[in-house]
Amino acid sequence: MSGSDTSRYDVVVCGAGVAGLATARAMSELGLRVLVVDKQHRPRPVAKGEVLQPGALRVLRRWGTARALERRNAVRLGRLVVRGPAGEALMALDYGRLPEGDRSLVAHDHLTILDALSEDLGPRVELRRGVLVEEALRDSAGRVIGVLLAQENRRSTVHADLVVAADGIASRLRRAAGIDGRRLDYPHRLLSFEITGAAWRPEDFSAYLTARGLRLAYPLPGGRVRLYAQVTPEELRGLDSAQLAAWASEMLRGTPALEPLAGPLRESLPTRQILPVFRLLTPRLSVPGLALVGESAYAVHPMAAQGMNTAITSADCLSGLLAEHLDRSGALSPGVVDGALRDYERRQVPALAHTARTSDNAARMVTDLSWRGRLLGRRAVRHTGANPRLLRAVTYNMAGLGPVRLTPLDRLHQIGLLPDPRAHRVPDA
Ligand SMILES: Cc1cc2nc3c(=O)[nH]c(=O)nc-3n(C[C@H](O)[C@H](O)[C@H](O)COP(=O)(O)OP(=O)(O)OC[C@H]3O[C@@H](n4cnc5c(N)ncnc54)[C@H](O)[C@@H]3O)c2cc1C
Repeated sequence: MSGSDTSRYDVVVCGAGVAGLATARAMSELGLRVLVVDKQHRPRPVAKGEVLQPGALRVLRRWGTARALERRNAVRLGRLVVRGPAGEALMALDYGRLPEGDRSLVAHDHLTILDALSEDLGPRVELRRGVLVEEALRDSAGRVIGVLLAQENRRSTVHADLVVAADGIASRLRRAAGIDGRRLDYPHRLLSFEITGAAWRPEDFSAYLTARGLRLAYPLPGGRVRLYAQVTPEELRGLDSAQLAAWASEMLRGTPALEPLAGPLRESLPTRQILPVFRLLTPRLSVPGLALVGESAYAVHPMAAQGMNTAITSADCLSGLLAEHLDRSGALSPGVVDGALRDYERRQVPALAHTARTSDNAARMVTDLSWRGRLLGRRAVRHTGANPRLLRAVTYNMAGLGPVRLTPLDRLHQIGLLPDPRAHRVPDA
């Protein structure tokens, strides 16, 4: 490496995924000077992060990003439904019953969501790609005061009052901050397909429970369908293309509701991606001078469609708290930042813990293939699906409009061990 220079910003954001771009957008609303860097020269198309929940959409409407997604023909979905293999609804979360303005999920390709978030970041936000964050810089008291960057053959330092680690699950900055971030892997993977040219499309975000595990399908713009299938790590190892086609046909035979996709699925086999699924919740979200946002701190099973949503609402929360701590000059200082970081930690840690717990329960309910897991999962789906009060609570939580806490008694109602005399007492939206 050769060359070195130093620059100064109010905020440096490491990572230009959903978390980083949302943070940059939120900070630009405060008039702060922001540098966003990402090691990738351009974002890679990964079959992840396509469904936005109403809680995040409230924030995206304020930023104009929801409108940008509409202009790009985003698809609105009214329900999140757990179904049997033949398509019968076992538990339907009806977003139409939520408050006005919050009555749909929105689906689009992950890259389009990133593109919409990058639109209109404002003149005080600079986005640089192909730049690796190597490490955090600290002052003599240990406070994070900036980052060391590497781009091609050059190293540079950036000083900032606030460093935001939005650098994903393997976050270097989280490690540099000494925050524990052990991820827990689920015992399965998700195999994704992007299906085009299907005469039939699911109307909702539909999770099908089958003997071989979860199948998840929802529509994407342009008449496409996203299909995920739960597989074991070994299930597809060594299959040639003919064997893979046979595997896919067998998979659809086990999910008769999806059989109309058989022909187009065969055509779309080359679009497959296999993705590990994991969860993570760090015990802390900050150290002096540095905040974690997004998957650097928090990841849940994709079934719950919560990752982008908590990233967006966390970014919004952090900027709201900074605004509360700023003085009339609007200038950041270490005191302002660390006051806001303490409040961020106090507010977000319990909120994320609640979402992590409910997401993990929901994921295990539909993916656990053990005898006991399957029995409890099916009971929970059936009894929750038949209980309007619990359905309302689960819908609010999934939509990111909660938290509505479920009590230990509610858990017993969910698995049908106790009848619920209040099942039909549903508060108004
Ligand atoms: C199969 C699947 C489906 C999903 N579906 C949904 C869904 O429908 N809805 C939902 O809300 N969530 C969903 N999620 C979760 C969601 O995709 C993630 O929560 C979200 O994308 C995380 O965003 P992020 O910005 O925190 O991390 P990332 O997207 O990982 O972004 C991190 C960025 O940091 C950059 N970076 C990393 N290290 C460095 C470094 N040292 N220097 C510079 N740059 C660096 C990377 O290049 C990357 O661009 C899904 C996840 C999976 C796996």
